[in-house]
Amino acid sequence: MKNIRNFCIIAHIDHGKSTLADRLLQVTQTISEREMKAQVLDDMDLEKERGITIKSHAIRMDYQYKGEEYILNLIDTPGHVDFSYEVSRSIAACEGALLIVDATQGIQAQTISNLYLAIENDLEIIPVLNKMDLPNAMPEVVEDQIIDLIGCSREDILRASGKTGEGVDFLLETIIHKVPAPVGDPKAPLQCLIFDSVFNPFRGVIAYFKVVNGEMNKGDWVKFMATQGEYKAEEIGFLRLNMDPAKKLSTGDVGYIICSIKTAKEVKVGDTITHKENPCEGLIDGFEEVKPMVFAGVYPIDSEDYEDLRAAMEKLQLNDASLTYEPESSAALGFGFRCGFLGLLHMEIIQERLDREFSINVITTVPNVSYIVHTHKGEEYEVYNPSGLPEVTLVDYIEEPVIQAQIITKSDYIGQVMSLCMEKRGVLSHQNYLTTDRVELTFSMPLGEIVFDFYDKLKSISKGYASFDYHQTGHQRAKLVRLDILLNGEMVDALSALIHFDNAQTFGRRVCEKLKELIPRQQFDIAIQAAVGAKIISRETVKAVRKDVTAKCYGGDISRKRKLLEKQKKGKKRMKQVGNVEVPQKAFLAVLKLD
Ligand code: GDP
Ligand code: MG
Repeated sequence: MKNIRNFCIIAHIDHGKSTLADRLLQVTQTISEREMKAQVLDDMDLEKERGITIKSHAIRMDYQYKGEEYILNLIDTPGHVDFSYEVSRSIAACEGALLIVDATQGIQAQTISNLYLAIENDLEIIPVLNKMDLPNAMPEVVEDQIIDLIGCSREDILRASGKTGEGVDFLLETIIHKVPAPVGDPKAPLQCLIFDSVFNPFRGVIAYFKVVNGEMNKGDWVKFMATQGEYKAEEIGFLRLNMDPAKKLSTGDVGYIICSIKTAKEVKVGDTITHKENPCEGLIDGFEEVKPMVFAGVYPIDSEDYEDLRAAMEKLQLNDASLTYEPESSAALGFGFRCGFLGLLHMEIIQERLDREFSINVITTVPNVSYIVHTHKGEEYEVYNPSGLPEVTLVDYIEEPVIQAQIITKSDYIGQVMSLCMEKRGVLSHQNYLTTDRVELTFSMPLGEIVFDFYDKLKSISKGYASFDYHQTGHQRAKLVRLDILLNGEMVDALSALIHFDNAQTFGRRVCEKLKELIPRQQFDIAIQAAVGAKIISRETVKAVRKDVTAKCYGGDISRKRKLLEKQKKGKKRMKQVGNVEVPQKAFLAVLKLD
């Protein structure tokens, strides 16, 4: 135990976490030159393309230093706010953290919030300036930021380059010297912290954990305390580049367990594994049920794909317990599902996986957060879909989730960032200069305002020089309404949105304008209206046109005529019939991207 070092890496996206991790694996010969592919820790295609480690992993390195064998467990963490609970559990499994900062960029919001998590968990922080090979590295400036932030001295900050390998040996030595060995009682009842899990189609769900107290032997009967599941430990072992089976895992070790678990739901990140007989006293602190934050309807573009979509959802949920879904139907879109996601990125990932892994194209409706509705009768329930909002007369008040948002930007952009946040009903609570030209702004904001297009806007107004992070803090009362869209008097349920009263007017107008552009002229006028309750708040009209596609054919060539009609029919397939109006598929998507 005294030679074990468990650590994670805290870094903003693209600051070089994966590259540096690869170097550590190389230097410790955990991976041979031949096996050395770029960024081995990111194994999903999607992750590589997005440069985000969505699923965290752990890897064990053996390292000889001054004649002693050390076990270095690198626990990888996801790098996006949607997955912050997973990050928090990975951090809880470590005794140390490398704080990697791109020497050309400086500290970013994501780094800060994860850093605070690490400090709360009493981790030893090793600051590292990365990308020192680049000519525009500004080590002194970034060092000042780091010193300000964690109160270390300049000498404590390492300089490295994942690209050239500079500083990597010294980094390993520093980990051995500075990161404390795990503490725990090998003789106490077994207590393990699950910090991640993966789904394997052949072996079921594999849980990754750290042994906090006691020891686990292959074949033991174990119990997952939060889910109450009991299993036989069929295989346990260490996580090297591949799984490396072992007979025993001891206090301080990081490893995996396989026990024929079929669904991801049975393995909750943050849960505690103990022995069925002689269990430990309780769950390790910090367990939380991860709850979806963003909800949207997901419908197959081709309604014949519904059963396939259901099967795909089932499969996705096997390996992604944070995805929820229930059947929902829409007059306009037919049968689909109301899905819950951790955040917008998670929603995009699911959409992409449906497309890539299952070849199903879907339409996603306007996403919303979940609200708490209080009725005059004193009832209280959760609403996460526009049709779930009760009659206005029954509602006493509605509460919406609130977040604390942290934004770091250049001081040049403070004005724009402030007005964006205020437009999104944000209230500035804190302003802190990290250096003369970088400022950290803290806002209290409704979560519902950022699920839409906040992040894209933030990036564009700051020309990319703003980073953003958030966590939920509670609820506040909100004037929430349902905005409906009507086509020739008929409501299109798939276009309804839950929205704050103050935004309804503008949002309604923009949707109407957008739909006017997208709905083709038909043989009669089409009235597009936005309404809140019975009140029409905006209106546009698509003028009628007489369109006879065969007119051009001069009545002559019959086969040509037929071809044209066929073509027109095909075009129609991509239309949805709403009452007597044909609406193109892209109109349903357009409301997601209003400019
Ligand atoms: P991550 O998102 O933190 O995992 O970052 P990556 O390791 O994927 O690196 C992001 C980008 O920076 C990639 O294009 C890397 O090739 C590049 N990069 C990483 N480390 C270095 C470095 O030390 N020097 C230079 N010049 N580029 C680096
Ligand atoms: Mg990466």
